[in-house]
Amino acid sequence: MFSRTKANGLNGLTLLKIRNLTTTSRCLLAPPSPTAGAASQQSFQIKLKTSVLPPDPNFLSSTIMKDNLEKKESTFEKAYKATEARHDWTKEELREIYHTPLMELIHRAQIFHRRFQNPSEVQICNLLSIKTGGCSEDCKYCAQSSRYDTDVNAEKMLSIEQVLEAAKEAKANGATRFCMGAAWREMKGRKSALKRIAQMVSEVDKMGLETCVTLGMVNLEQAKQLKEAGLTAYNHNIDTSREHYPKVISTRTYDDRLETIRHVQESGISACTGGILGLGETEEDHISFLYTLSTMEKHPESLPINRLVPIKGTPMSADLEKSGKKLQFESILRTIATARLAMPDSIIRLAAGRYTMKETEQFLCFMAGCNAIFSGKKMLTTMCNGWEEDQQMLAKWGLKPMKAFTKHQSKSFLHQHAEI
Ligand code: SF4
Repeated sequence: MFSRTKANGLNGLTLLKIRNLTTTSRCLLAPPSPTAGAASQQSFQIKLKTSVLPPDPNFLSSTIMKDNLEKKESTFEKAYKATEARHDWTKEELREIYHTPLMELIHRAQIFHRRFQNPSEVQICNLLSIKTGGCSEDCKYCAQSSRYDTDVNAEKMLSIEQVLEAAKEAKANGATRFCMGAAWREMKGRKSALKRIAQMVSEVDKMGLETCVTLGMVNLEQAKQLKEAGLTAYNHNIDTSREHYPKVISTRTYDDRLETIRHVQESGISACTGGILGLGETEEDHISFLYTLSTMEKHPESLPINRLVPIKGTPMSADLEKSGKKLQFESILRTIATARLAMPDSIIRLAAGRYTMKETEQFLCFMAGCNAIFSGKKMLTTMCNGWEEDQQMLAKWGLKPMKAFTKHQSKSFLHQHAEI
């Protein structure tokens, strides 16, 4: 077994070391002296080449080498080295990533982020409630449900002029995506409303802004109508894990949600799909939530991460107060970083509840892989960080607003700019 290595004048251990050397360090191996002549030089190179490549099957029986080759690469390492998005994640794999020591997780998520996304750009979005309150659904956290006694009252849908005015203001403040939300269960039976919203979409699209709407459940036909109007994305969150979902909503199922997301994607519109953290769920629910998203045939183009702002009068607010359950900031970071490693092409949006975070906490969310924010006066019914405040913060960090349609025109950033 050692005949070849002996012939090379190298013992097994030396050979093992050579196999692990980098190209540069191989040069450090002393060749025969220059006076030894060309034949000897050439013979040394051949011998060295033969020794380094390919592995000698006999030599593999050596215990050290076997251990070396059989040592399994961790899921985390594999995820980190990926050059394209995967859709076959298992919960075990996501769990391993999620529970990686935090320093390592954030550090690697940031490097990984830089391979797929432009690290100096952040998309600024603006969200306008075009039809507030009076919703028939029972989402336990929502101030707009007609079932709960909150400060939010049912209002009429805004006019096209009001919407365009808001879109103009958003554009002037650097927003490149304009989102319109209506508090409805679904679009069934809302033909004229859909027509009006399609008109709004079309007009905002003409302003050069990406458009997004969130209108509850839609069928394929309705999604196609919005696509024709020029809609960029449709927001429909899965909210939380499949397991935790029934504790939050009973008037529509998890699968109803997934069906709407399928209709949206089938119609050619991008899916903006994420969830809310802090609904009394566990870390295992975060993993399961990410599992649903990351195993979708098509990952959400946009993945909003909301931090619950408990609203007085909602059952969720009362439940959380009673149970004392509190979402740890570390869990938000872990969710974002795991999402970044599992869904490299998605834009991760730090959405509602960002105003409750200190600037340093927001900074960490960006380090973990977020690359979009909502800015402006309001986030539907909760507060939002203001335009100027955000512009100053991003400028301080050396980040610039992402141009509209950047992600739609380009494939992964990796293939154009970055080194692996
Ligand atoms: S989250 Fe949406 S669907 Fe649920 S109650 Fe609020 S407005 Fe209605």
